[in-house]
Amino acid sequence: MKKWQKKRQSDRKAQEAYWKEHRYCEVCLAEGRGKVAAWEIHEILYKSQGGKCEPDNEIAVCRPDHQRAHFLVEPYLYREELYKMKGGNDERKFRDVEGIRKSIVENKHKL
Ligand SMILES: [Zn+2]
Repeated sequence: MKKWQKKRQSDRKAQEAYWKEHRYCEVCLAEGRGKVAAWEIHEILYKSQGGKCEPDNEIAVCRPDHQRAHFLVEPYLYREELYKMKGGNDERKFRDVEGIRKSIVENKHKL
């Protein structure tokens, strides 16, 4: 198996693992639309920008919200908003946006 194939396979596994714990669209939960099935996992910092398929950089989304996160349909969803939305309406799961940024910088990824 070639290197990029291995990477793709491990990325998919990581996304599946995240999805198993986040079955509902985290944007819909945060925006008060309730429990909407999430069928896609979005990398908040795009893979093309050095983002990794890791829980701190992933968010479960429905198709329309995934399109918003890629600026295909309005209202757009910006990276900082998505970090804040992670964990939906469960306050215990809300992440520290600055902490995530710091860890990305420490891992030498550009924001
Ligand atoms: Zn949604």
